Amino acid sequence: MGADRGWRIPESGGRWLLAAASLAVVAWSLVLLPSGCQTQSTARRPDLPDGVLDARSGSARGGAAVAAPSLAKDAPRRPPPPSLRPQVPAREPEVRVRVATLGGESTEFSHPSGWLWLKPIGAGEGVTVRSPVSVQPGDQAWRVVQAAGSREAERLEIRPGSALEIHAPQGSSQELRWRGGDWPGVATLVPLQGDGPPQTDLIFTVPMETYLPGVLAKELFKGWSPETYRAQAVAARSYALCECAWWKGRRHFDVVAGQASQAWIGATADPKSREAVADTRGEYLVFDGRVVPAYYSSCCGGAAASATDAIRDGSWMDIAPLSATDARFVRQKGCCEKAPTARWTVTMPTDEFSRRLNAWSREEGRKDLGTLSGVRSISVAERNPAGRPTLFRITDAGGRKVLWGSEDLRYAVNGGASGTRDALKSGFLSPRVDRGKVVLDGRGHGHGTGMCQWGAETMAKAGRSHGQILQRYYPGAGVESSPPSDAEAR
Ligand SMILES: [Zn+2]
Repeated sequence: MGADRGWRIPESGGRWLLAAASLAVVAWSLVLLPSGCQTQSTARRPDLPDGVLDARSGSARGGAAVAAPSLAKDAPRRPPPPSLRPQVPAREPEVRVRVATLGGESTEFSHPSGWLWLKPIGAGEGVTVRSPVSVQPGDQAWRVVQAAGSREAERLEIRPGSALEIHAPQGSSQELRWRGGDWPGVATLVPLQGDGPPQTDLIFTVPMETYLPGVLAKELFKGWSPETYRAQAVAARSYALCECAWWKGRRHFDVVAGQASQAWIGATADPKSREAVADTRGEYLVFDGRVVPAYYSSCCGGAAASATDAIRDGSWMDIAPLSATDARFVRQKGCCEKAPTARWTVTMPTDEFSRRLNAWSREEGRKDLGTLSGVRSISVAERNPAGRPTLFRITDAGGRKVLWGSEDLRYAVNGGASGTRDALKSGFLSPRVDRGKVVLDGRGHGHGTGMCQWGAETMAKAGRSHGQILQRYYPGAGVESSPPSDAEAR
């Protein structure tokens, strides 16, 4: 992005007067937005609505990890996703990270230089404004106030219907400030179409290697080993690249900052995170010549899930490194017993349990699951070769039997798409009914596919390298590097 910005901080203290005229802006389209890099189709279940955290994952720190990308229910029809996974990129890709979906309120950006550059997408020149700047979506215009909060505060308007980019000065090594944090890259405000109150997505478009430290700093515990950080860097880079490839030209962001993709805190000074990213610069996990969508989760509970069971179907997922049928996974003992989430129990009245399942089936249009009237019994109906349950058989009070997928069950009990509960940390359950209650003895945290973060740390403490960690959790995959660019080689 930086190379074509074409502006610099005004020299000297001379006053900069802004053209008062509004900026004409044509309607933006996905094509005009920066398309960073992009994952995968065939939902075994409907994709999740945008903006909803996917309760199917959990980071080592109990926050976020990787889950399936999501599609808005009312989104316009998208072109089909690519059928092939991406190759190792020749150049550093950019990642479009959705950091927030804002309402109609104004939001303030600032920069230590005292200047910012606003650039409407699709038409018109950029305009230099004095920091801080507050920006609010309106019916007729973006309502912008430069030097917000000072005596020199001045309003200007930029016509709506377009995304609006907010740039730091060219060449500045300092990030934008937003809500008390430092955020690298270019901010883009994207108005969302649709009925109801106005909504605007805030996206940061960030070079991959600049994006990753802010993922590691949030995904892993500070006291964990450098080799765990390096393995995480390669996994997070590979996952992000696949999301970029999956969403390119189909959505205005590649990943979200949070549980539905992977955590991201923006810029970070954390040396361990920065060093792990620098040490593995340009390294991607590759299988069969293409990058692996390297899903990972906090704690597998001792048995991995395959991506086709836990994430979704499709050729991108159905590969050996993401399968739980490999003997190396099946032999997986001593992975993550020390994790606080290695074992847990959730107990719930049977009527509450069936109510949540019924609500989820309705919400998801899953008529095949029907309506449960209470729960008489629940048992494991099927396990994968690693021993992790993939299907549960539920018999209701009327004697009707239904099969539930383990991740569906987890998601339903946690409140479905509108839920915020995270009671079931995984779908790895030994269920039973006991005196009017469903008792769920669970293991692990997250979907269980790919790298187990707690297991990676156990290996690192035992002296294993990040390559060995990746080999264990993505069997058959290898690490390949992007060719170093001139800028990187300096
Ligand atoms: Zn594990």
